[in-house]
Amino acid sequence: MPYFDPHIHMSSRTTDDYENMVAAGIVGVVEPAFWQGQPRTHVGTFIDYFNTLIGWERFRASQFGMRHYCTMAINPKEANNVPLAEDVMKILPRYCQKDGVVAVGEIGYDDITPAEERFFAEQLQLAKEMELPVLIHTPHRDKKRGAERSLALVKEAGIGEEWVVVDHLTEQTLPLVLETGCWRAHSLYPFTKMTEERMVALLQQYGTEKMIVNSAADWGRSDPLKVAKMAEAMRAAGFSEAQIEQVLFYNPVNFYAQSGRISVEELLTPARIDQTQLWENNSVLRGQTPIVRQ
Ligand SMILES: [Zn+2]
Repeated sequence: MPYFDPHIHMSSRTTDDYENMVAAGIVGVVEPAFWQGQPRTHVGTFIDYFNTLIGWERFRASQFGMRHYCTMAINPKEANNVPLAEDVMKILPRYCQKDGVVAVGEIGYDDITPAEERFFAEQLQLAKEMELPVLIHTPHRDKKRGAERSLALVKEAGIGEEWVVVDHLTEQTLPLVLETGCWRAHSLYPFTKMTEERMVALLQQYGTEKMIVNSAADWGRSDPLKVAKMAEAMRAAGFSEAQIEQVLFYNPVNFYAQSGRISVEELLTPARIDQTQLWENNSVLRGQTPIVRQ
């Protein structure tokens, strides 16, 4: 059964992770643009980062048989540097038109400041103009208020709720999103936030419609195999294969398919691997024989 991880920061992961994910049945990933652990000081570093997401990282994934898509945005944390965020807003429309870019995101609130709200609202408008779905990050502190204000801002922006996924939900915030037409995403972490067991309980209570699960793995403690582990947890809890497929493949792919740049058909076609290929003269090989698989 194919799985899809709709939120993972692969730039911070190793090639072993790609190999292990493919072996576990994960056929594609969405890598949302986010911060880099320390504040960026120039718009140029955003340009290079965005180019990496659509360039090298996409290539690197393909070398291991993984299909890679991404989202583009100025993230909530760095939205607080207003002059920089204004510069990033100027380059975003160009990146939103690139192949493999399937949404605007992750946008939303971090500390719920006026600057965060300004760029959150502006990027909702950008998504509308670009006819792209939106990935909303909900804050890890003051979660309920962050989710409420995010949903209010979506309404105010006049963007169709079916174009929006609200991420990092918990028992506290999921019911708020269930009152809307937005899609519902949950990040499973090894030590904090949501676990497989709690996620199974949410699916038992609320059903599988528009429900999405991701690993949100990055350079912190996280697990890129969480989507595959969630399948095992659902199986053990008695969910049908069709329900598992819906939550861990069809829901996220159908959500991002609204961009017109990703499809179920594409993901169900086995990926071709050609490790003889180079990206700007660089390869992922370190002396091993290149694999070519049609
Ligand atoms: Zn993230």
